[in-house]
Amino acid sequence: MRTLIDCGTLVLHDRIERHRRLLIERGVIRAVAAHLDPPADAAVIDAREHIVLPGFIDIHVHGAMGADVMDAAPDALQVMARFFAAHGVTGFLPTTVTASREDIAAALESVRQAMGEPLAPGAARILGAHVEGPFINPRQSGAQPVEFMRAAQPDEYRPWLESGTVRLITVAPEVDGALSLIRDAQRLGVAVAIGHTDATYDQAQAAFAAGANQATHTFNAMRGLHHREPGALGAVMSNDAVYAQLICDGIHVHPAAVNVLYRCKGADRLVLITDAVEATGLGDGAFNLGTQRIFVKQGVARLESGALAGATLTMDAAFRNIIAVTGCSLVEASRMCSASPARAIGLGDRKGRIAPGYDADIVILDAELRVVRTIVGGQ
Ligand SMILES: [Zn+2]
Repeated sequence: MRTLIDCGTLVLHDRIERHRRLLIERGVIRAVAAHLDPPADAAVIDAREHIVLPGFIDIHVHGAMGADVMDAAPDALQVMARFFAAHGVTGFLPTTVTASREDIAAALESVRQAMGEPLAPGAARILGAHVEGPFINPRQSGAQPVEFMRAAQPDEYRPWLESGTVRLITVAPEVDGALSLIRDAQRLGVAVAIGHTDATYDQAQAAFAAGANQATHTFNAMRGLHHREPGALGAVMSNDAVYAQLICDGIHVHPAAVNVLYRCKGADRLVLITDAVEATGLGDGAFNLGTQRIFVKQGVARLESGALAGATLTMDAAFRNIIAVTGCSLVEASRMCSASPARAIGLGDRKGRIAPGYDADIVILDAELRVVRTIVGGQ
């Protein structure tokens, strides 16, 4: 099955092209050219009035539409996958929260099962799991339940690293055993983010030296920058190798702080995430986040204590927000939503770009940057 997309505006990795054609064959981008005759059997998508970009990749997302990764149900993951595709996402990492050993294991098992099923029509692809906690610091708990936070024990985390399901783990480097976990993860090809951390500048840099390559929701649940003790945040901002995940929803991080981070990291190290929870897509009300109750008012999710509890953001909104806040170009915004997240989890050689040989994961937007169509693996 071949598909040809007639693109009005095409966003490539480093530039915009007008009036280009894309040929997709068996789920892979075969050709990008100004002149390309559609093969006789090809379906043609007319995007001459639209903007064609790499599909969005969300590497930190807990739920949507009443479904939560901690439901430990492949059906819940399918509900999420369809909702995200409608918002331009072609690949995502279902993200667990701090919980008992059994509950995390059950959630990871459901991700493993869902990944083994054929891609459902209209659904984003699950690229693996993100394990957020439980090896994090109670002093930076955010909305994660303190009672389940614990030291990193190899007998618990080794099976995750060896499962082939887990692509990313968020840990606080100052927690007992975390540095050994980072070294083991590095060896086995699993990415590590520092997060929910009270790490000093030196502790954070030690984690990066051991192999951690990114920060979870930068600014949120993280020791801030002081000019004599730059903290985990100072290490993230000043270490050029480090990717910085960011919740760009206008609530979690002040626009001025977004701009500071954007100037420090640039589009090749800034990774937009949603951190969305099950309330996303459902409006205001009372919901669950793992074992905790959360309350959503005017789109802002909080625990009863008032602490922010994840977001109700979608990737298409994050894409529009980063342009509005920083004035960055379409090309840069696209990199922060596709190529940079793909690289941050080790998939940069086949996802996150529109180029021959890359997976045919594509989002088509209208002139107001609203999603018109999402193509996952050529479908
Ligand atoms: Zn978090």
